[in-house]
Amino acid sequence: MALKTAQEYIDSLRALKSDVWLFGEKVENFVDHPVIRPSINAIALTYKIAHEPEHEDLAVTISSLTGERTNRFTSLFMSPDDMVKKIKMQRMLGQRSGCCFQRCVGMDAINAVYSSTFEIDEKHGTEYHKRFKEWVKYIQQNDLCVQGAMTDVKGDRGQSPSKQPDPDMFVHVVERRPDGIVIRGAKAHQTGSVNSHEMLIMPTLTMREGDEDYSVSCAIPSDSKGVHFIYGRQSCDKRKLEEGDIDVGNFMFGGQEALTVLDDVFVPWERVFMDGEVEFSTMMVERFAANHRQSYGGCKPGIGDVLIGATASMAEYNGVPRASHIRDKIAEMSHLAETLHACGLACCTQGTKTRAGNYQPDILLANVCKMNVTRFPYELTRLAEDIAGGALVTVPSEADLRNPVVGKYVEKYFKGANNVSAEDRIRMLTLINSMTFGLTAPSYRTESMHGAGSPQAMKVMIERQTDMNEKKRLARVLAGIDEREKLTD
Ligand SMILES: Cc1cc2nc3c(=O)[nH]c(=O)nc-3n(C[C@H](O)[C@H](O)[C@H](O)COP(=O)(O)OP(=O)(O)OC[C@H]3O[C@@H](n4cnc5c(N)ncnc54)[C@H](O)[C@@H]3O)c2cc1C
Repeated sequence: MALKTAQEYIDSLRALKSDVWLFGEKVENFVDHPVIRPSINAIALTYKIAHEPEHEDLAVTISSLTGERTNRFTSLFMSPDDMVKKIKMQRMLGQRSGCCFQRCVGMDAINAVYSSTFEIDEKHGTEYHKRFKEWVKYIQQNDLCVQGAMTDVKGDRGQSPSKQPDPDMFVHVVERRPDGIVIRGAKAHQTGSVNSHEMLIMPTLTMREGDEDYSVSCAIPSDSKGVHFIYGRQSCDKRKLEEGDIDVGNFMFGGQEALTVLDDVFVPWERVFMDGEVEFSTMMVERFAANHRQSYGGCKPGIGDVLIGATASMAEYNGVPRASHIRDKIAEMSHLAETLHACGLACCTQGTKTRAGNYQPDILLANVCKMNVTRFPYELTRLAEDIAGGALVTVPSEADLRNPVVGKYVEKYFKGANNVSAEDRIRMLTLINSMTFGLTAPSYRTESMHGAGSPQAMKVMIERQTDMNEKKRLARVLAGIDEREKLTD
């Protein structure tokens, strides 16, 4: 089947029988819901770019499984260059959407499960990898959107899955039947889950003996019986239900997260990719995390580019573009965004081949990349808020701007330098507002903090991946405690 167009993707969602809940009500037509539609538009962009000749090199690749053209979001990374292209594609999509375009989680999960299942089969003689390859071919041939479902709701964070007072705090197998398994639990904060055709489920953390039922990876259609989506609130989301577009800021695009409840969902064996192999949970989690932490070195600098452009525009609208401290702050913003991108690219070029044949980014550098992402967008946001001015949070509504009585005051008192209209100035303010406070959810801040793992998860990996004994040896040699290096014989 050909690569889907944006329109074909949107139409394909209409065929889903998904159970979606928002504001306490069941949503019968989620595709046209004004709160949800911007997030669908953001994913539609990932389909659109595959048909843009100038972006084909980034957005389309030849499948290593079928030999056919496939969207990069469904592909396996078969070289470091594939990962570099992924990062560049993500930056471009961040620039064009100004938000999370949601399809990366599935792409990163596909690559982690592909390499992990190969190694499970090597050890256990199972056939997970063969099944997984068949499933990936189906995804590629139908150009489906896949949700990467890792994070469990976790209940008491101090207890392992099997020790939780409520056994459903981590997704687990509740029944094994001749034809498949039945799973129960819930996945939290699931990006783009309502907008995806399929869900790829993985364990969320290292499993230990006793956690066998929780060591499960499988794929399910997102409208399977027993799947319920409870849509996550976004700051100021009800502005999308109002007249006009100005108050929404980024009106066209937005992110999406949902609590995904799996209430006794049946999964046939051919879609089960791990069932009880506790010792491989860490591999799957770490590989997914490295792929996904790397991804943030693409999308977040791209979104940062929009924020930098909006901030520089506000400086112009306010008549201060040449002020030395403003220029310095905007240069600092570029430095931060480019540093994020440099990290994202670095872990690709240092990537290594897995035993299954696909490539894995350098785990240490991928964690450094995401660690920076938990910090730099906060500084970028702080600088944007500094330069934009207080109107960022005090600007009148579009209804006031259009009002026959007070509109003339808004137009007069909100106009900018060099005859910039009040409307343009307000539009730029609400764009910044939506990006930094979260209306285009998830906000540039909190998603950067927790998406792909909270900062401590990266710290643990950075500590684990650092060869401290080697660093100490280097110091001992130069200090003369160990024998110094000889320059000549
Ligand atoms: C916008 C957004 C999108 C996301 N998209 C996805 C997605 O598509 N798919 C997916 O699978 N996940 C997704 N996530 C989930 C993300 O990976 C988690 O938010 C992240 O791993 C943190 O988990 P948590 O939110 O449960 O926070 P918590 O785990 O509760 O963390 C809160 C704090 O508690 C600390 N903490 C937690 N456990 C312990 C412990 N045992 N000991 C000491 N300290 C602890 C953490 O370090 C952190 O400081 C998304 C998250 C966000 C915010």
